[in-house]
Amino acid sequence: MMKCDVVTLFPEMIHPVLAQSMLKRARDKGLLDVRVHDLRDFTEDKHRTADDHPYGGGAGMVLKPEPIFRAVDAIRAGGEPLRLILTSPQGRPFTQQLAFEFGGETRRLVFICGRYEGVDERVREGLDPEEVSIGDYVLTGGELPALVMIDAAVRWVPGVLGDPESAKEDSFAGTLLDYPHYTRPATVRGLAIPEVLTSGNHEAIRDWRRKQALLNTLKKRPDLLEKPGCTDEERKRLEELNSKRK
Ligand code: SAM
Repeated sequence: MMKCDVVTLFPEMIHPVLAQSMLKRARDKGLLDVRVHDLRDFTEDKHRTADDHPYGGGAGMVLKPEPIFRAVDAIRAGGEPLRLILTSPQGRPFTQQLAFEFGGETRRLVFICGRYEGVDERVREGLDPEEVSIGDYVLTGGELPALVMIDAAVRWVPGVLGDPESAKEDSFAGTLLDYPHYTRPATVRGLAIPEVLTSGNHEAIRDWRRKQALLNTLKKRPDLLEKPGCTDEERKRLEELNSKRK
């Protein structure tokens, strides 16, 4: 079971996504527990103010530190060990490896969602969260990054995917991208599926898929093949493929 908390100024961005498809199924099966915390519930003024102007002037607003501290205190009061994650474009890149790690995490994953210019710097100093980024671009808030991370991580929780083997064959699970997939009909608009897939020869299908995964990677993400982690068999096949292309 993966346990998460999302601390946000926009809880309504989170709920609808949790109520669909695999995330809903994972929650229904008791494999995913997500609690969403509205930052405004941790404010103490009449207007429920969670942001303010930046010291020193300049454009934009900054999320105030106290509601975030109080929200984390309230989660901590539950007594479970926590792993704090601050969504931030400045953070460590989120990868399949980190998704796998989060999926197997036994502590509650607490995602803090920034907004506007971000969170008051003292949140970093006071809570020492891990800063994680979902890519080198800037979004308007941390809600989509939190959902992206939860979605990618929950796939690694045993029982969430119908076939647990499928995640292991996905792109980035190893060095290679995934192989191409086909479903019925066998021909559409003159485009036929590769014959081997209807041959019933499982060994030949496995072989074809391995080769296609290599070709896919070579064509779309050759940088992945330069990283350590390629198996000897993959390297051998890669050399064969490369020599045929020359
Ligand atoms: N001024 C900040 C900077 O340049 O580093 C950007 C703030 S951004 C507009 C507002 C919030 O969105 C951030 O505090 C963070 O929570 C979230 N965010 C934006 N881009 C993100 C990314 N690539 N990965 C993770 N979180 C992101």
